[in-house]
Amino acid sequence: MDNKRVLIIYTGGTIGMKATQQGYRPAPDFLDSELKSIPDLMREDFPEWELYEMYPLLDSSNMTLKEWNEIARVIYENYDRYCGFVVLHGTDTMAYTASALSFILRGLNKPVVLTGSQIPLSEIRSDGRDNLITSILIASEGVANEVCLYFSGRLLRGNRAMKMSADGLVAFKSPNYPLLAEVGIEIRYNRDAILKRVEGEKLEYLPFHEVPIGVLKVFPGIQFGLFEEIMTEKLSGIVLETFGAGNIPGGGGELLPIIKKAFSSGSVITVCSQCPMGTVTLGAYETSSSLKGAGAVSGKDMTTEAAVAKLYHLFSLELSKEEIKKMMEKNIAGELT
Ligand code: ASP
Repeated sequence: MDNKRVLIIYTGGTIGMKATQQGYRPAPDFLDSELKSIPDLMREDFPEWELYEMYPLLDSSNMTLKEWNEIARVIYENYDRYCGFVVLHGTDTMAYTASALSFILRGLNKPVVLTGSQIPLSEIRSDGRDNLITSILIASEGVANEVCLYFSGRLLRGNRAMKMSADGLVAFKSPNYPLLAEVGIEIRYNRDAILKRVEGEKLEYLPFHEVPIGVLKVFPGIQFGLFEEIMTEKLSGIVLETFGAGNIPGGGGELLPIIKKAFSSGSVITVCSQCPMGTVTLGAYETSSSLKGAGAVSGKDMTTEAAVAKLYHLFSLELSKEEIKKMMEKNIAGELT
């Protein structure tokens, strides 16, 4: 392989957006000239890079499965030509895309680093310059060989990341998993936290299929009956965002029969927590033990983003409902402890 060549895939997002009268928006071919005007990226001692621009460029709130599959396909088809990949992406749904890529691309043995910025590269004080330069270095170093997310001095596991701030420059955290690297004067990798390669594993491309998935966040006073009509086979996978360690209001009285019915008609209901930190433990409280009995599975310490992506993944593999239930509680790509 040519020495240290990184492929930058631009999908859209603030980092490459242009200011227009209607606000920031991604503009084709604009990023290329922006990148060429950053002296550090053109230095001889900097890794070589090439830019691949997706079409159309999107604000990440418009990302769908189609784009997740497409980003993964570009990486898969160019895998042997580059030592690593940087995916430039809007911050709004970056954690979803990072989670999705970690399931679509199994057996990865090179870094795939997602990054972006809160302020476009074309603006003074852009946080995009460091995010981009450091991401390219991380992608070229081949230490964190998994799907990761770099932002504001921290390298996070992609499927553990959450967007935590709408306007702060430290926009992402992985509350339930240690940093993969901390970036100060040096890039200090936390090698123990990085996914270990499974000997003999080869890269696989496992695209997602369109699967009806829903997320329901419980709140005090929720009338579960209002959701009965959609909590059926109409939704193959449901992520239930519960309180604390997996608790639901009303002791489940109204919800349990709905869950039982949904489960028997083929839906897999995964219980996640509204708390960014800690884990769901079904059965720790009376208010959660009945969920398990009704057929719900524990999302443990998975983020909602990862749980959604994992449901897409498992349903796309066309596994049986029982297998999907089992796999939801098992670690596949470092998404749960
Ligand atoms: N709305 C933008 C996006 O997610 C925000 C950003 O890039 O930070 O594409």
